[in-house]
Amino acid sequence: MSSDSSPPGQLFVVSAPSGTGKTTVIDRLMERMPRLIRSRSYTSRARRSGEIEGVDYNFISRDRFEAMVRADAFLEWADIFGNLYGTGRETTEAALAAGADLVLVIDVQGARQVRERLPGQAIEIFVLPPSFDVLAARLRGRNKDPEEAIVQRLATASREVGAVDEYDYVVVNDDLERCVCDIAAIIVAERAKLVRQRTSIAPIVATFKQA
Ligand code: 5GP
Repeated sequence: MSSDSSPPGQLFVVSAPSGTGKTTVIDRLMERMPRLIRSRSYTSRARRSGEIEGVDYNFISRDRFEAMVRADAFLEWADIFGNLYGTGRETTEAALAAGADLVLVIDVQGARQVRERLPGQAIEIFVLPPSFDVLAARLRGRNKDPEEAIVQRLATASREVGAVDEYDYVVVNDDLERCVCDIAAIIVAERAKLVRQRTSIAPIVATFKQA
């Protein structure tokens, strides 16, 4: 929930267990909502083929990541499957102060830290797979990971789904188009809240005071 003390930009957090189809959902959402900016995380994980430095992530060494943690350079960070991921603090704060609507695609550990550091500021959306069995079939079907890694991802997904109650909104990804539409609708509704529009509507309201 936002408050009068919120910066001009709106912060959205989206979390989804691995295999939920999050990448496609977020890519479609960004196409549909040109005013929305996706935050680029830092990660110590190796670049996958097709990923571009400075576009998909800022790929950095583990040493540099740990130095940034010590320097309090992250708004939030997490260790996920042995790799470190984090959101730059200053760039996030500067973007929000400049009025940008920012979306962080981060895990539940990161969402908890955002909640602690910026209480009441982020709108948090959880993307839920239709069922455990559908998620297991998707992870196995994409033939990307060995069975051991899939079992680990499913255990992590079960833990993450356990955190769904911590979020403001939940969207089930059983149909890609509907899932993207629902997230877009949440963003539009949040932008339409009076508290976010006080400044922009003031000149309109003023014209009625002249009458
Ligand atoms: P992948 O390695 O597949 O790109 O991402 C693995 C997980 O890391 C995903 O659940 C993704 O949402 C999460 N993630 C990506 N960037 C960040 C970040 O900056 N902070 C946190 N906490 N999680 C992140």
